Amino acid sequence: MSRAVVALGANLGDRGSTLRAAAAAIVALPGVRPVASSREVESVAVTLDGPDTTKPRYRNAVVVVDTDLEPQELLDALHGIEDTHGRTREVRWGDRTLDLDLVAYDDLSLDTVTLTVPHPRAGERAFVLAPWHDADPDA
Ligand code: ATP
Ligand code: CA
Ligand code: CA
Repeated sequence: MSRAVVALGANLGDRGSTLRAAAAAIVALPGVRPVASSREVESVAVTLDGPDTTKPRYRNAVVVVDTDLEPQELLDALHGIEDTHGRTREVRWGDRTLDLDLVAYDDLSLDTVTLTVPHPRAGERAFVLAPWHDADPDA
């Protein structure tokens, strides 16, 4: 089993309900077991032009799991959960009902066309680091 860290974010719809449904769906995936989950935090929307207080705010959380899914298999499953919640991709860093990012997978370093692990921007995002630390104080 490998230890995986997933970051959840939403700024459209009923954000809290979506995050909780998504967290439940992640740990219900075949080959995934819950380890820890964070409290939810609020953050300002960040667009390609920087923070934008006119956009709906985000609700974010982190879920830590053990899994025997390979990293790409896990990402594919996360995308399936995003689809269930009506995720669309029109504009980079645009508003979204649900975003699920694979932040870390054991201490693996991986860089393919579809998956970079650790997530290359997670380390500069308080909305990822704070809930990750909440879920895992040793993170
Ligand atoms: P960011 O990656 O900066 O958080 P985003 O989450 O808005 O931006 P998306 O549109 O959700 O970006 O994803 C674009 C692509 O990023 C996905 O199709 C996926 O293949 C790729 N990707 C690469 N590495 C990862 C990762 N660690 N977690 C999630 N997606 C990843
Ligand atoms: Ca993201
Ligand atoms: Ca994403």
